[in-house]
Amino acid sequence: MTCVGIESTAHTFGIGIVKYPPFQILCDVRRVYRPVSGGIHPSEAAKHHMEKAVDALREAASRVDFRKIDIVAFARGPGLGPCLRVGAALARMLSLKLEKPLVGVNHAASHINIARVLTKAINPVILYVSGGNTQVLHVSGDKYVILGETEDIAVGNLIDVFARKAGLGFPGGPRVMELASKSNRLVKLPYSIKGMNVSFSGMLTMLERLIGRESVEDLCFSLQETAFSMLIEVSERAMAMLGVNEFIIAGGVGANMRLRQMAGEMCRERNAVFKDYPPEYYADNGVMIAWEGVVQYLLGERLSIEDSIVKPRWRITDVKPPPARLYEN
Ligand code: AMP
Ligand code: MG
Repeated sequence: MTCVGIESTAHTFGIGIVKYPPFQILCDVRRVYRPVSGGIHPSEAAKHHMEKAVDALREAASRVDFRKIDIVAFARGPGLGPCLRVGAALARMLSLKLEKPLVGVNHAASHINIARVLTKAINPVILYVSGGNTQVLHVSGDKYVILGETEDIAVGNLIDVFARKAGLGFPGGPRVMELASKSNRLVKLPYSIKGMNVSFSGMLTMLERLIGRESVEDLCFSLQETAFSMLIEVSERAMAMLGVNEFIIAGGVGANMRLRQMAGEMCRERNAVFKDYPPEYYADNGVMIAWEGVVQYLLGERLSIEDSIVKPRWRITDVKPPPARLYEN
């Protein structure tokens, strides 16, 4: 079967097409919104997605014959309402025009399942780190279980807000990573873990105070070392508690080389495996929505046009994960 997936939850408008079985990526078109100033403005991002949708669709149609599509999937949430509605409208239109079933998928589950299919991890501990989320998860039976999460802001938000205040632009991640590589001087920052939960707001406050007093390279380095150590520590605790020896990272912050390097070191030290995949699939994209569309279609999900309103606050604990056997071959 062939599924087209539309991503529009935040900064990226993406159209991906995958075929299964076996898993194959047929097309991956992305248009990324970059705010002129500040963070993401929801209505501006939605306007960007609307303006780019036709062009992105044309590019996808030049690669894949849309008559071969069997399923139309879109990211139904969580995300920014105005942005979600652009992707949903295009998906409804495609579903009607192609006369193919519509499937609304969860953006977080899509990040996790693209990681699983690309790495063939059977039942790993998952660190999900993006602009709006920081969670440690595991699949238990037919549920996603959240073992730990942030008690305040997401790690991506910590990075983006710090970067904005330090004048580094949006998104902060790539720039912070680049500047961090030019320093190895650690400035002490709050290291806050409670059980398997983390907290980053104290670190952000401290970093904001230090802007202009310490070099920006040292601050980027210290942010990464401290925040990522916290994330790797709670992930390791989850692995030890469950006796799991596979680890994957999902979500945009996973594009960070230092975070993935720490993950590799932690796993090697405990005889476990960190399963990595190409950095471009950590970021938001349409391919992961298309794959989650296949997963949910196989689980029996179908959405009528009438019921297809978006869900900006959709929790992953309300979504069904695929059975492990999907990843066993
Ligand atoms: P997502 O919402 O999943 O697309 O993730 C977006 C988040 O990933 C933003 O907070 C970015 O700053 C962050 N990000 C992107 N690239 C990197 C990177 N190389 N290092 C750290 N964070 C990154
Ligand atoms: Mg994302």
